[in-house]
Amino acid sequence: MKSLIIIFILFQNCSFLQAQFYTIGKKPASHKVQKQQDLPNDGKVSKNDSSTKVGKSMERHPDKWIQQYLSVSYPLDKLVVNSPYGWRRDPFTGKQKLHNGIDFQARNNEVYAMMEGEDTKVGYDKRSGNYITIRHGNYTVSYCHLSKILVTKNTAVKPNEPVAITGNTGRSTGEHLHLSVKYKGKYINPNILLEFIRKAKEETFKYYVQKQ
Ligand SMILES: [Zn+2]
Repeated sequence: MKSLIIIFILFQNCSFLQAQFYTIGKKPASHKVQKQQDLPNDGKVSKNDSSTKVGKSMERHPDKWIQQYLSVSYPLDKLVVNSPYGWRRDPFTGKQKLHNGIDFQARNNEVYAMMEGEDTKVGYDKRSGNYITIRHGNYTVSYCHLSKILVTKNTAVKPNEPVAITGNTGRSTGEHLHLSVKYKGKYINPNILLEFIRKAKEETFKYYVQKQ
């Protein structure tokens, strides 16, 4: 019951995300995503990927749904986008520039690892401020402008493990979390990964709703 309540709370918090994803297209993007991008937890999610029916093997093992739910995490408790991925006017130079990540509102918040992985880089530079880069299979996720880093280089991280505290370090006009994602070394829209997380959680949620 407790997990159900948590799931409900998370869904309420993340409703904006759904709204945003719906602007991408009416079909859930994750069908496409999982096939094309071989996400680390691909097997766990895609085999049972259905918005209307529950996978048979999962049905027999309800624990797997909980495991699936817990295998992914949003990077912050509350995701409010300040600036999306894509072309924009650079706040410092005024010129058009590709924003290689998403900026989320933040105020001294814990930042979580989104999946199992390894933090490969922990450092500081003038542009990113304090940053951390976590590898999840073919994906690398970077969090920038942090005030504090809570883990050390080359250590394993678990989904939902706090890895840093948001801040305003480096080239930043105010506190926020800059989240960027690379797939095989190339920047991609972090929404692809966030959508994968949303889908994994939503499937567990649907399973328990159907059980009621
Ligand atoms: Zn940014």
